[in-house]
Amino acid sequence: MKVEVWVMLQETMRTIGFFCPSCRQAVIVDRSAFQLLASKSQIDCPCGASSLHVELQNDKVRLTAPCLFCEENHTVTCSSHAFLQEKTIAFSCGVSGLDCCYVGERESVYAAMNRLQETVDGLESEAASSGIFLNEMVMEEILSELRDIGQRDGISCTCGSRRFSLNVNYSSVELSCSACGGTLKIPATTLSDIDDLCCKPVLSIRSKKT
Ligand SMILES: [Zn+2]
Ligand SMILES: [Zn+2]
Ligand SMILES: [Zn+2]
Repeated sequence: MKVEVWVMLQETMRTIGFFCPSCRQAVIVDRSAFQLLASKSQIDCPCGASSLHVELQNDKVRLTAPCLFCEENHTVTCSSHAFLQEKTIAFSCGVSGLDCCYVGERESVYAAMNRLQETVDGLESEAASSGIFLNEMVMEEILSELRDIGQRDGISCTCGSRRFSLNVNYSSVELSCSACGGTLKIPATTLSDIDDLCCKPVLSIRSKKT
């Protein structure tokens, strides 16, 4: 019996997918159920800036997933049975209501990730064209704070340039250095994002040259 369970776990493959909040690429990996449940697993984005954690706790699986929308890590749980058997499980972000990670069979996780990518693209172009944001009040505050910092000449790039362009997204603002293309992303989702920005006298864009 024990051997059978072990073989089943070795042969069951699960696919896990999330979007990296830092580089915004889709991170999708296949792991055997055995690998996932034998020890704590960590799935890193190739850019190194974010990772998803999987941990078995009794008969539950606990996931800590980075979120593309609010840039926080979300901790979610499901039963280990669902984790190993369901076609797809979607975990969603409590702030935006959008999904932040998927676990399941390969095809359905890929399909779900594609749909989420389309949703994200749609939201970003809507934000750009009609000014619809995840949290309008927060976005307004972030933009006015950025204007203030910009007026005091407080925005620069580590390459030495002080010229930049500003890109307003659905739940963040991105500053890009006009000289080297380095970027700095500022989340615009929650009140603490405003506090974080307000306490910064200067902003420094990290150059792509280094
Ligand atoms: Zn990344
Ligand atoms: Zn979130
Ligand atoms: Zn630069």
